[in-house]
Amino acid sequence: MRYHIAVIPGDGIGPEVIDETIKVLTRISEKFSREFIFSKVSAGGAAIDKYGDPLPKGTLDACKASEAVLLGAVGGWKWDSLPGDKRPERALLGLRSGLELFCNLRPAKLYEALKDACPLRSEAADAGMDIMVVRELTGGMYFGDRGRKQTEMGEAAWDTEMYSYEEVRRIAVRAFDIAKTRQKRLVNVDKANVLESSRLWRAVVLDVAKSYPDIELSHMYVDNAAMQLIRDPKQFDVLLTTNMFGDILSDEASQITGSIGMLPSASLGKDGLGMYEPIHGSAPDIAGKDIANPIATILSAAMMLEYSFGLKEEAKAVEDAVIKALNDGYRTGDIYSDGMKKVGTREMGRIITENI
Ligand code: NAD
Repeated sequence: MRYHIAVIPGDGIGPEVIDETIKVLTRISEKFSREFIFSKVSAGGAAIDKYGDPLPKGTLDACKASEAVLLGAVGGWKWDSLPGDKRPERALLGLRSGLELFCNLRPAKLYEALKDACPLRSEAADAGMDIMVVRELTGGMYFGDRGRKQTEMGEAAWDTEMYSYEEVRRIAVRAFDIAKTRQKRLVNVDKANVLESSRLWRAVVLDVAKSYPDIELSHMYVDNAAMQLIRDPKQFDVLLTTNMFGDILSDEASQITGSIGMLPSASLGKDGLGMYEPIHGSAPDIAGKDIANPIATILSAAMMLEYSFGLKEEAKAVEDAVIKALNDGYRTGDIYSDGMKKVGTREMGRIITENI
């Protein structure tokens, strides 16, 4: 089988972590007889320098023609003074809307070997945590009507939260489908006690639930969910929520696992097309020093194998190789603790590749 992957190394540590991830995927292709065809394209600061545009048309076209997109990270100090619509991060919004990526998946998993990095008290950390946050990505307040006007209280500004039945239905279907492959527990997070948009959201989730009688569905208001996440993260399996609530809750969940360098993400569109990237940024403070943790990007590639290509066994082989590296005591600087073996980006990539 052949799989076409558009690769955007990006800026800062992006190219470093992508290099290691490609080594891991190449090893998977050898071991499992799969053919991955990588097309490297530019976006972000690298594309501004080369083409004067953070998301050149050629890049978007190459991504559309692929089955999956693997992205390092974009951005950096060099481009910080550019106006908003010319900045590297603009490429991310362009890719999300251009590829119609409406479903964002962020797993937050606390690995046994990294339990000490969890900022929660030991009882909560000891219980473990394995949450999949399913966040709507192309609707809600981040895309709604907004504006400013003068009022007698001075200048005023507004943003609008709006969701249509179909927007909620398609993300809810994804969340229920994912719950089916896990512990079959889904918590819908909204603010239906206050917001009309949340009341529609909840009604649609309840409609979709009729087709999934085997999934245990419950509802939680977002303020309670934020609290429960740090009180007892183990209670959650799959968490479904809106664009804005998901932005906040997925960052909260990620911090519980200790390091930003460990966390992958997937953004899915129609027909299996997906974009896979670590949740961290381009980390300009550590770029070019061979100290960045490549695991978040490597685990993003594992998500690509599972969600875009349906290669579950291969995805598990990647995750197992990461777990073995951690259990053997290898650590990049961000997850290092006394008594462990400190390694750089390339060495961590090599060890994980060899573990496959
Ligand atoms: P960041 O995630 O790049 O870095 C935050 C901190 O975490 C830094 O101290 C960094 O050294 C550390 N860190 C991040 N990834 C790491 C890794 N893999 N290994 C070890 N340490 C790691 O966030 P920031 O500093 O706020 O942003 C830097 C640039 O990245 C900005 O231009 C921002 O706009 C951009 N950004 C891009 C994306 C993306 O491409 N998806 C996401 C977030 C931020």
